[in-house]
Amino acid sequence: MSDYKINTKCVQSGYTPGNGEPRQIPIVQSTTFRYETSEAMGRLFDLEESGYFYTRLQNPTNDMVAAKIADLEGGTAGMLTSSGQAANFFALFNICEAGSHIVASSSIYGGTFNLISTTMKKMGIDATFVSPDCTEDELNSAFQDNTRALFGETIANPALTVLDIEKFARAAHAHGVPLIVDNTFPTPVNCRPIEWGADIVTHSTTKYMDGHGAGVGGAIVDSGKFDWMKYADKFPGLTTPDESYHGITYAEKFGKEGAFITKCTSQLMRDLGSIQSPQNAFILNLGLESLHVRMARHVENGQAVAEFLNGHDKVEYVSYPGLPTDKYYDIAKKYLPQGGCGVVSFNIKGGRSAAEAFMKKLKLAAIETHVADARTCCLNPATSTHRQMSDEQLEEAGIPAGLIRISCGLEDKEDLIADLKQALD
Ligand SMILES: *Cc1c(COP(=O)(O)O)cnc(C)c1O
Repeated sequence: MSDYKINTKCVQSGYTPGNGEPRQIPIVQSTTFRYETSEAMGRLFDLEESGYFYTRLQNPTNDMVAAKIADLEGGTAGMLTSSGQAANFFALFNICEAGSHIVASSSIYGGTFNLISTTMKKMGIDATFVSPDCTEDELNSAFQDNTRALFGETIANPALTVLDIEKFARAAHAHGVPLIVDNTFPTPVNCRPIEWGADIVTHSTTKYMDGHGAGVGGAIVDSGKFDWMKYADKFPGLTTPDESYHGITYAEKFGKEGAFITKCTSQLMRDLGSIQSPQNAFILNLGLESLHVRMARHVENGQAVAEFLNGHDKVEYVSYPGLPTDKYYDIAKKYLPQGGCGVVSFNIKGGRSAAEAFMKKLKLAAIETHVADARTCCLNPATSTHRQMSDEQLEEAGIPAGLIRISCGLEDKEDLIADLKQALD
């Protein structure tokens, strides 16, 4: 599918039925697969042939959808995981172990920050967090001899900072490690990090890719560009024999194009599970079929809402990379020429109590801890996800008490603006 435009890939990639076969992706609702001989199955276990034996590792429905996402991102291989959290953990843990170190942007999803700063730390994997706006010198000085990956988000959730992917890729490659980019918010429709130098791309497919608030899931895509063998001493898991897999050396047997995903599937999925259910993969693919159409509307609504709020006298400031007044406007023009996403954040004058009163008055926008689905929703961190923090602590964390994150859905923008206007009034 790689010659088609992204719009065509959203609809067509990943599955082409043969004569008389189902038009829609079949849901292979089976835990296991039958073989005529033990030898035939043995060849799968030896990774001599590709095929299916147990859905904890791989399932045909998942693989069709993963192939579509890999094609959308311009990668060589992909896999689905049970959640975005699992995708980011697997992508990092596939090349890190106790004693390793990660450099990560400090402006990332809270769940990923906790994963790296707390849970992976307990596994003996250290991390240094850097501002996405740091200079190249500051970025380079965060690396250590044991650094194994650089991590960032194209558009950070919820801060809406935009990553300078080329700057991050240069630093990663200067230190012989891959750049992993979580591309959840823009989706490959609006940005393809691999084209800017990223090596591995991850997703919470729970957000725009599914797009209907229907199924939790994640995905990992490999660009196939990182030369593991060149830095063999850093990545022994890929470049030396895997004794738990009959002495296979992934980077030798599957090359740059296939080593990362094959190891992640045959080792981490085998040992940790966390695969997406075939049902959810099917639902995800329904979302992907209209992703290009929906993203354009999410961006249109986000831009209109951001412009409305930006001119309002009860609003302190608005963060949205599509606004010329936004700190990330220029960098967004480079990496996100068609716009970024439908998530806008703004600080209402009057702090916590004003935010609470405003949210109570909303009729269309629902209060939810979610973003990026068809229905507009909003959240005030001070009175929900961050309610244990004082106003002073919130201010320090860059989340003032009056901050409201609004995820613009697919409704008519005039109705959305009218709802915000009456609530502000
Ligand atoms: C939601 C989100 C995640 C976590 O994904 P889940 O599917 O909820 O596990 C990771 N990264 C980003 C940018 C997200 O928005």
